[in-house]
Amino acid sequence: MNLSDYIHTIPDFPTPWIAFKDISPLLANPDVFVYTINEMAKKCTDTDLIVGLDARGFIFGAAVAFALHKPFVMVRKKGKLPWEIVSMDYDLEYWSNTICIQKNSIHQWQNVAIIDDVLATGGTAQATCRLIEQCWGVINSLVFLMELEFLAGRKKLAGYKVSSMIAF
Ligand code: AMP
Repeated sequence: MNLSDYIHTIPDFPTPWIAFKDISPLLANPDVFVYTINEMAKKCTDTDLIVGLDARGFIFGAAVAFALHKPFVMVRKKGKLPWEIVSMDYDLEYWSNTICIQKNSIHQWQNVAIIDDVLATGGTAQATCRLIEQCWGVINSLVFLMELEFLAGRKKLAGYKVSSMIAF
């Protein structure tokens, strides 16, 4: 199955020069969505827990956790998670960002798979690895629906097991 047929590229969204990868056609086709989740789940063997990244990573992460019957944990943007949190700041090209996870949602030495829709520059995924390791989790794998190879996000994730279903 050619999954790239189900990704719609929208130029200049949300800002000029960004080619936005829209996952709506893939989600709207149940055969393709089920196939995608099963393929992503195959990359998450030996995993105790699935972490999904805000926001589209929740769609794929939660479905993979459901398929594998594993716990699912959200990494969210600042101000979205209630109760006690652990946070991580990271720099993007022109601004900085903060991601958060609920305290005690990961146990020491748990094997964690991180799931998101797009690997672009790798900044978000790299910060997530740091956040999880700060919570004493072990990064088992990072699984993306798609990877924008020209942005070389994998370089930031050297040393980790990284896979993607589609390369652009
Ligand atoms: P990065 O930290 O640069 O790897 O960006 C990854 C995050 O930004 C992911 O959570 C994606 O959902 C989002 N993202 C980055 N680039 C795109 C794109 N071209 N289309 C859709 N989402 C994107």
